[in-house]
Amino acid sequence: MKKNNSPWIYQLKRTVFFPVAHGDLCTDITIVGGGIAGIATAFFLLTTTDKKVTLIEANKIARGATGHNAGQVVSYFERSFADIVSEFGLEKAGEAQKSIEDSWMLLDQMYTVAGLSIPFSRFIGHAGLSSYDQVITHLKDTVCRQQARLPLETFRISEKAPFLKDIPNEYSGLYEVVPHDKVRSLLESKDDSFNAVISYQKGCLNSALFCEEVALYLHNTYPDRFSVYEDTMVGKVVLKDTHALLDVGNATIETDKVVLCTNGFDTLTIFNESGLDIDTRFHHDIKATIGYMSGYLEDMNKPPIAISYFTNPDASSEDPYFYFTRRPYEYSAGSTKNLISIGGPEVSLEDKMAYSRDLLYPDSAQETIDTFIKSVYELDPNKKIDYQFTWHGLMGYTPNLIRRIGFEPKNPVLMYNLGCNGVGILPSVFGGKRIADLVNGSTDSTIFDPQ
Ligand SMILES: Cc1cc2nc3c(=O)[nH]c(=O)nc-3n(C[C@H](O)[C@H](O)[C@H](O)COP(=O)(O)OP(=O)(O)OC[C@H]3O[C@@H](n4cnc5c(N)ncnc54)[C@H](O)[C@@H]3O)c2cc1C
Repeated sequence: MKKNNSPWIYQLKRTVFFPVAHGDLCTDITIVGGGIAGIATAFFLLTTTDKKVTLIEANKIARGATGHNAGQVVSYFERSFADIVSEFGLEKAGEAQKSIEDSWMLLDQMYTVAGLSIPFSRFIGHAGLSSYDQVITHLKDTVCRQQARLPLETFRISEKAPFLKDIPNEYSGLYEVVPHDKVRSLLESKDDSFNAVISYQKGCLNSALFCEEVALYLHNTYPDRFSVYEDTMVGKVVLKDTHALLDVGNATIETDKVVLCTNGFDTLTIFNESGLDIDTRFHHDIKATIGYMSGYLEDMNKPPIAISYFTNPDASSEDPYFYFTRRPYEYSAGSTKNLISIGGPEVSLEDKMAYSRDLLYPDSAQETIDTFIKSVYELDPNKKIDYQFTWHGLMGYTPNLIRRIGFEPKNPVLMYNLGCNGVGILPSVFGGKRIADLVNGSTDSTIFDPQ
């Protein structure tokens, strides 16, 4: 068994940290959690309001899921789009999908305004489908995207797909039939079981390094309005009619609003003095899953890419799949290689408090990843791969797999930008902007509103 050793945390070189909170503090808005959700929320609150913002992080910034993910920037939900349309209607689902896709611009805005120069690769990425059912599910999504006037993903089906003739005529025009070699080359795969490829904009970013740098930028730019405290756990939130009191160990914070960007977990208790109980639901309706990943270094002789592989023909959009990225990575000063990182194995946790970032990385996850990469990716199957990185992180799934962003209906002093899900970078950034819009008085509704 190996240690939890993430390539994103490995690249964090900060030696000076933010202080621990103590004493009585007073602020307009307190953000709890310093992952990408908390940092994006701070960014948009500071850049679009004149509020005083305080960010409290139990550990160090970006050591949660943000420091233990796959670092792929993607705009899909982990649920079929057609399914989201059937729950929320075409208009609301279309707006939600568009707002996640527009969050590329918000991410760019954060990157540019903060003056960053860390690697951020963009390209057309791919997903390989193996079965008829997967193809039909994605074609149904394509129909809904077309109806919602969203840009369409490029859909290619192999001329050798055994089910090509069975695809109903209603989908003709939504996909292109291509030589099988095209499927193989887009997926960079020697595995012939993939019969179709969908392609769309994707990217790669070390979201932990991104957060750290944006936090430093905000701290330097807004010294009178932005305070950050690290190693400071919020234990209790007491909600009053007009404000909240936060118990943070050696400090008490009085705040007009509190935004939970906690990924949905941890040891926080919520007392709502002005009405109904909030605490129980908050703690019980997020399902926890550990995602395992491994990474190794190669010569930098291929461009960055992100590819998902639905290797299991029976897998639905909600089931685990393998995800692969390749990106330039500075492992040691002056030596840039390609980092190949692969994720896929997952374990559901009955008790989310049982998760610790210090848990060892199981050999079984490593073996699953090693078998996958040797059978699918263009690689010498006999090569012994030296995995420099093996890591795991916690994914939180709301019951409907949609991130929760907005006011707590029972007391709007409390707000949320959480419910991580396995795809959370763009949704967290969107959530940060949405929180700022709500604080600025926006009244429109979205599928992300807490129910
Ligand atoms: C293995 C894996 C792979 C993934 N791959 C991708 C991917 O490729 N693309 C993608 O878009 N998403 C991916 N995700 C999901 C993505 O990483 C998350 O959705 C995103 O990082 C969530 O950010 P967050 O800020 O909400 O949570 P976190 O980064 O977990 O931050 C929450 C923070 O809150 C702090 N906190 C919690 N409770 C308290 C408290 N009481 N007091 C103070 N602080 C507290 C925690 O210490 C933590 O730092 C992946 C996740 C995992 C685990």
